[in-house]
Amino acid sequence: CGIFAYLNYNVARERRYILEVLFNGLRRLEYRGYDSAGISVDSSYFYVGCEDHCGNSCKPLPPLVFRQEGNIDSLVRSVYEEVATTDLNLEESFPIHAGIAHTRWATHGEPAPRNSHPQSSGSENDFLVVHNGVITNYEVLKETLVRHGFTFESETDTEVIPKLAKFVFDKANEGEGDQTVTFSQVVIEVMRHLEGAYALIFKSRHYPNELIACKRGSPLLLGVKELNEDKGTGASFHDVKFLTNSGQPKELFFSSDAQALVEHTKKVLVIEDGEVVHLKDGDVTILKFDNDKGKSKGGHTRPAS
Ligand code: GLU
Repeated sequence: CGIFAYLNYNVARERRYILEVLFNGLRRLEYRGYDSAGISVDSSYFYVGCEDHCGNSCKPLPPLVFRQEGNIDSLVRSVYEEVATTDLNLEESFPIHAGIAHTRWATHGEPAPRNSHPQSSGSENDFLVVHNGVITNYEVLKETLVRHGFTFESETDTEVIPKLAKFVFDKANEGEGDQTVTFSQVVIEVMRHLEGAYALIFKSRHYPNELIACKRGSPLLLGVKELNEDKGTGASFHDVKFLTNSGQPKELFFSSDAQALVEHTKKVLVIEDGEVVHLKDGDVTILKFDNDKGKSKGGHTRPAS
């Protein structure tokens, strides 16, 4: 019943800090009720896949997912237990990192780890999604995806979303190299098929260090914290004059509830129905998806500074 995401850009943050921001986000959402919780962080967080970060031949490793039935503390315990089995230094820093988190109030499928979020496109975690709301046409989408060879592990309505994203991505890349479509093109194509109410945050192995959120009928907020100021200016996001200094260090947040943002920043943008918010390279790009016409309108970039 709550979604949260955190992305640090151009500012070193320690492993422990990144985890704690995600856990604290979830704790602020606890009061709304929940039966399970989960997070996803990049696997670079745990395993260094490519030592020299060549960016060419090395494919990023799939993001890691932790899911637990029960309260946030049991999720926190299980994550730190897993960390303890590695020789990781929790004080090691990352200049950029993107994590997503969820507290669930089950509508479809009993509370259980397999039904907790993030829900995944498959074992490789190509696409991961946290979802608030209900997808009313999930049964017909599921049937179609099963016909295309997808197997489902949960009873949730949500699982069709990451699988649809993978289907769209694979189709776009048939016979081509990787990434002929942008992350937002994939998400907009997914939204075209969804009916019901949702706030969604997507993370993908194919688009490391990027996050996308979108919504229709469920609340969603974006928080921006510039690192050269402490608590934001107090101005609402709409009052801020957007500058084009994309490289400026910052932290970006998504949350379904302002409760999880206030400790970080007062610069908060209320995302509107049909908006697709893409965080990439320190920029915030917002595209408007018009479901009636079935196509996306032009986007505009709001550099987040
Ligand atoms: N309908 C989804 C599920 O049951 C999301 C529930 C929620 O908003 O927490 O998994």
